Formats: sequence, C-alpha cells, structure tokens
Amino acid sequence: MTGPPPPATQPPGIHHKRIGDVIVTAINDGMFEGAFGMLANFPAAEAEALHQAAFRAIPPRLAINCFLIQTGDRLVLVDSGFGGAIGPLAGHLADDLLAQGFAPNDIDTVLCTHLHPDHVGGLVDSAGAAVFPNAELVVHPADHRFWGDDATLAGATCDQDRGFVQLARATIAAYADRTRLLTSGEALPGISILPEPGHTPGHCGWLIASGGESLLIWGDIVHMPGVQFPRPDVGMRFDVDGAAAIETRKRIFDMTATDRLLVAGMHLDFPGFGQVVRAGDGYAFIPDVWTPTV
Ligand SMILES: [Zn+2]
Repeated sequence: MTGPPPPATQPPGIHHKRIGDVIVTAINDGMFEGAFGMLANFPAAEAEALHQAAFRAIPPRLAINCFLIQTGDRLVLVDSGFGGAIGPLAGHLADDLLAQGFAPNDIDTVLCTHLHPDHVGGLVDSAGAAVFPNAELVVHPADHRFWGDDATLAGATCDQDRGFVQLARATIAAYADRTRLLTSGEALPGISILPEPGHTPGHCGWLIASGGESLLIWGDIVHMPGVQFPRPDVGMRFDVDGAAAIETRKRIFDMTATDRLLVAGMHLDFPGFGQVVRAGDGYAFIPDVWTPTV
C-alpha cells in the first residue's frame, strides 16, 4: 500500500463564525486530561456515571479554546490558551494563528476572561516577555488586583497554586505599560465586558453585538460540560469563591437560555459555540452545527 501514513493528530483546530459584521474564530490551543477530583462538591463516582451515560472520556478531557475576533481593521484575541506550560497537548495558538496568515505582531488587543494559566499562559514567553508585542491587554481590575496582591502569593499552599499566581504576575508585568482595567461598558466598539465573579474575582465574559446578532464568550462558566450543564451547582476546586461561582453559573445559564443567546466557552468541546437550554432540573448544551460557508 502506498500513500501517506495514517494521521496521529488532527489538523489545526480553527472554526469561523459570523456575528453580524464580525468574524469570530474559535482556536483550539489543545486539551488537558483532567480528573473528577477537580470537582469541588460532587462525588467522583456520580461524575463518572454522567460521563459514561454521555459517552464522554473517562478521565475527563477539557478543551482549551481561545477566540480571535476580526472587526473592522482590528484583530482581537480573547485569552491565549496555555502556551508552553503543560507540554505537547496544548500551546497550539501560535501555529493556529500562522495557519490563518497572522503573526503575533498583528494582534492589537487581548481581552482577558481571567488570569488563570490556561488563559494567559500563551501571553508570555519563557523569558517573561510579551508574546504579542503590539497588543493592549484589557482585564477586569478585580483580577488584576487579586493576582498582583502579595497576599495571594503568600496564601498559595502548594507548588501548583504558586505556579498559577506566578504566571498571572508574569503576565501583569509583561503588559504593565499597556494594560487597560475595565469594569463595565465597551472595550472596543461592539464588544462589552460582562462581569462573572466567582471562579476568580474578576472573571468576566465578553459580549459581541453586531448587525442584530450577539455572542457571549463566557470564559469558564463551565469546565466539565458533561457534569455542569445537568448539575450547575457543581463547582471546581480552583474556584476562588465557590459559592459565587455557582451563583454566577446559574445566573448566566438562566439568562442565556431565556434570551436564546449564542455562547462560546473556553472549555466547551471545540469549537465551543452553541445554545444553552433548560433540561429537567438543570440545563443542556446544543452545539452549533458546522457549515462549510462562514
Ligand atoms: Zn480555564
């Protein structure tokens, strides 16, 4: 038999979606193998049963997505994936941008949902320099304050938590001369911040509106879709304020289901666009259907 060897990996994870005059591109930075022990208040056996019933991977796999927004002459990134922080399963953002003809210099704005490593790891290189030299960083001040606070570093109780804080601080330092703190309103025309506190103090979504269409890029409202849509009251161990994170998730589910608002998420299965609907005592997610034209 001749021909190329069978593929071991997927082609670049890139998917375009049009919202009015705006093109939003989901980019898969990679995935990480999680564990049901990451859930804060839910028995691992019950989580495993939910995954089994939904034909989902055990142990759980979490997509790591970020999003590119092309609007007018602006090129905007929402989060940056993990960068080189967790090995070969992630850190594909730079290659995925290149596959679309974009270099890091071309990004003029980075909107940040929060300063966790799977969201900002791609913003700094191993020497601590900014990966996107021309980009303004827009972040909620509550996250900027929390992660920059010496008390947060002092309060980290294990190497992993200290690593989280150090990477957030490296990001803050690398973009210090071009950081904009935003609590409400628009970051850019048609792109507004939506505070979603709990997972981290300044965790937020970015709401895009154009030509009568809307999309909420909601960050980390959901980490494990197979568990948290049917059970929105299940949190994650690394939620900074677990009760607030649950309350926020319920509020955002209720709002997006009621308003039939299209959402996109960093840990929703790639490409991560879809609709939230009510189902029994909880919710379900209906992924957007792939189409060949944008
Ligand atoms: Zn995350």
